[in-house]
Amino acid sequence: ATPSPATEDRSPEAVLRRVFGFTAFRGLQADAVDTVMRGEDALVLMPTGGGKSLCYQVPALCRDGMGLVVSPLIALMDDQVAALRQLGVNAAALHSELEDDDLARIRSDIASSKLDILYISPERLLSPGTIAYLAKRRLSVIAIDEAHCISAWGHEFRPEYRGLAALPGVFPNVPRIALTATADQRTRDDILDALDMRHARQFIASFHRSNLFVSVRPKTQETRQLEDMLQSRKDAASIVYCGSRNKTERVARSLNERGFRALPFHAGLSPQEKRATLTRFRSGEPIVIVATIAFGMGIDRPDVRCVVHLDMPASPEAYYQQIGRAGRDGQRADTLLLYGGEDIARARHWLELSNAPDREKREMHARLESMIALTESVSCRTQALLSCFGETLSVACGHCDNCKTPVSTFDGTEAAQKVLSAIYRTNQRFGAVHLAAVLRGKKTDAVTRHAHQHLSVFGVGREQSETWWRGVIRQLIARGAIRINGEHGALGLVTDIARPILRGEERILLRNDPTASLREVVSRNN
Ligand code: ADP
Ligand code: ZN
Repeated sequence: ATPSPATEDRSPEAVLRRVFGFTAFRGLQADAVDTVMRGEDALVLMPTGGGKSLCYQVPALCRDGMGLVVSPLIALMDDQVAALRQLGVNAAALHSELEDDDLARIRSDIASSKLDILYISPERLLSPGTIAYLAKRRLSVIAIDEAHCISAWGHEFRPEYRGLAALPGVFPNVPRIALTATADQRTRDDILDALDMRHARQFIASFHRSNLFVSVRPKTQETRQLEDMLQSRKDAASIVYCGSRNKTERVARSLNERGFRALPFHAGLSPQEKRATLTRFRSGEPIVIVATIAFGMGIDRPDVRCVVHLDMPASPEAYYQQIGRAGRDGQRADTLLLYGGEDIARARHWLELSNAPDREKREMHARLESMIALTESVSCRTQALLSCFGETLSVACGHCDNCKTPVSTFDGTEAAQKVLSAIYRTNQRFGAVHLAAVLRGKKTDAVTRHAHQHLSVFGVGREQSETWWRGVIRQLIARGAIRINGEHGALGLVTDIARPILRGEERILLRNDPTASLREVVSRNN
């Protein structure tokens, strides 16, 4: 902090009240702040919206010197700076998009010890001259925000973050505080190793957000299901996550045609386009952002009422972080994940093809598999999700889709055998649509072209609907008995898993997919 009148109380509680206007610290904030006040290092793990910023802002204002905050995103920094300035704190951000006179003003404020808190991008901090320049100043605390960016395992790896390991060498007596909302053990270990902070005190908040109403449904009619979800939230903000840039554009267009106000967001947009979209999102107007995972960090609108995933997230961590952008105001928010067998198979297939090092690939694979298991789970989603982060919720949440509509199961051995032999007899060259047609005895063009009406499996599944068969296929993919074969989405057998099922050596239980429409479930929840 900058020098202040000697009479002013600079205890954390006083600053919290005087500067921020809050009456008390929340949860682990008080202990984290105390640790930094004592000059010790800390690692803070809180879900998005948990209140991480105060953990470094308060000590920065209480201790002598300027607080230095490393942050990966310009938009995020600018937001924080604007908010702090409103509170009368002299804060600034140093990044690549500054005008020359801003830069000069910031430098002069730093030189005359007038700046309370300086946000800085890692590139800027590590650029020649900056460290040497800052080394001459007195720092109150060094905060490393979004610290998971240092981990190569994470989905937001920033190689520049690795350079932050040099900081204690330059600022030996300045406490460091690393903050993140990414919870898994591996990322946490990585952060502590990479920052050489093994000794840091750790503050790990519960990730349970009881205002998030999670639902996960098989994808039957993507567009309809999406609209049903958004319909009742037309006067609110929603985020729809898609697996590709093209899809965000396509979905946004189709939503606009149907009377929603929707904008795409992905890494391929120009900086101006991104800024314009973010500005509208933040303005408080009702809006649907259709985005890739590029729409992530720094999304700080409290009243997002709904997050929809149209494609499978890469891991439970990524998924939880994305749905965590809803309901930051503590009010009820709904989330929906739509998943299908082809998506699952494709996600695995892409991972196979990636040229990441083997070790990393295995890790990514394990995460994807736990994500897939989550979608097929028959018990409380919230419990299942939290258990991915090593947290036990002792009672079921009572408001996820599985809690609301308990899932029933059936002996699916025979159905599975029919699907697997249909795949085998069509030479593992067809996708789910064709397989369902064969099983249901439909003489489609493709069926007659390949003379599949003469197969012994033709029509053995007449009594069930196409959706039902696709549900069975999807669950067999999720179990790993079926995988994508080659380029065109053809499904093939994974012999080791498929054979015992085909031979009747293994009986399998399948879940009855929900038949109630989403609209019913949503209104039942209300
Ligand atoms: P995070 O960085 O963990 O996502 P923030 O630091 O942005 O979360 O805080 C989320 C919201 O909670 C902000 O609006 C903030 O003002 C509010 N908040 C944080 N701590 C407190 C507190 N002790 N009392 C009241 N509101 C708080
Ligand atoms: Zn539940």
